[in-house]
Amino acid sequence: MLLKSHGKYSLYTETDKMKPEFFQKLTETSLQGELLSDTCCEKILSISEVELLPLLDAAYQVRKTYYQNTVQLHILNNAQNGNCPEDCNYCVQAKTATADIDTYSLKPMSEILAEAERAYQSGAYRYCIVMSGRGPNSKKVKQLSHIIQTVKSRYPIEVCLSVGLIDEPAALTLKEAGLDRLNHNLNTSETHYPNICSTHTYQDRMDTLKAAQTVGLACCSGVIVGMGEDNGDLISVAKELRKLKVASIPVNFFLPIAGTQVQDSTSLTPDFCLRVLCLYRFQNPTAEIRVAAGREHHLRGMEVMSLYPANSMFLDGYLNAKGKEAYRTLQMIEDAGFTIETNGDISEYLQHPPNKQVNVPLKELEVLRPRMESRAQVFGKT
Ligand code: SF4
Repeated sequence: MLLKSHGKYSLYTETDKMKPEFFQKLTETSLQGELLSDTCCEKILSISEVELLPLLDAAYQVRKTYYQNTVQLHILNNAQNGNCPEDCNYCVQAKTATADIDTYSLKPMSEILAEAERAYQSGAYRYCIVMSGRGPNSKKVKQLSHIIQTVKSRYPIEVCLSVGLIDEPAALTLKEAGLDRLNHNLNTSETHYPNICSTHTYQDRMDTLKAAQTVGLACCSGVIVGMGEDNGDLISVAKELRKLKVASIPVNFFLPIAGTQVQDSTSLTPDFCLRVLCLYRFQNPTAEIRVAAGREHHLRGMEVMSLYPANSMFLDGYLNAKGKEAYRTLQMIEDAGFTIETNGDISEYLQHPPNKQVNVPLKELEVLRPRMESRAQVFGKT
């Protein structure tokens, strides 16, 4: 039964909250293109209200309808690192960050091409070129256009670009160069935005997304969970991204790197992270939902379950933070019965992954008997 609450239909009643019908309604509502009410979204995010496994299954039904069992992999290239004049307080590249990162200006073409080839060979569907900074000037836009054209002419890989704030003419130049997608994350809600950045506004970010959409560029835009926001902020971003009709939504979980200004995100649990992914799937049924930075750190042993709501992942780490080795991610996906969507042939990579251990090492005596009184007593020697 649908109940009306705050002008919206709520799926949730006290009596049917844990019944199979509740989960079925979540799937049906999402597949019918309807928005879940904020009350319902709050319940989804609440561990005490809604059971996780049926919730994951309900989100999986939506994911399966649009993406079957496929997983797209994205590899990031941190093409220009650090020295950013902005103060996004979650970012190690911000002027306010004290993290000890390697800084460099835009990498030469040869380096970017070599990394594009490596991304292609390790099964990436999309190669994401990321540049620190507020936004590129016209000279940089030309340089980036040349890079995009060259990568696209050499490798059958989709190219995404993340370069900060841009206007319509810049967006058009990049589109004409063959750019497949522009990434520009909303990161958090409009209300919470002033708490995470003072050098640009939420509206600046919106303007960039609108400029890209005006010239017909597909957009990728997501969220960072764990920056002191409340559930209402996360619910609001999911709705905004739906309004923007973005093609792809990276859901990041804040990585606590020493030297950033965001206070710790220890409140994030694997259970909560999975609920957020389910929520974003229900509210954006046709979008590519990517479990992005922080999946290893915050989802821990439940990482593979993120594939039920999400249909894409980053491979091989994040901008400045390491992730798990690429082959372990590939194996995790295959072991769970999902199919990696790739333009390359990764079977060889999966069969002969680098560093694959063929022998499990044996425990040493110090580990087997840490409280051993003395070796002499054990071995009867003096
Ligand atoms: S604009 Fe980008 S690189 Fe600069 S501080 Fe913000 S997130 Fe980091």
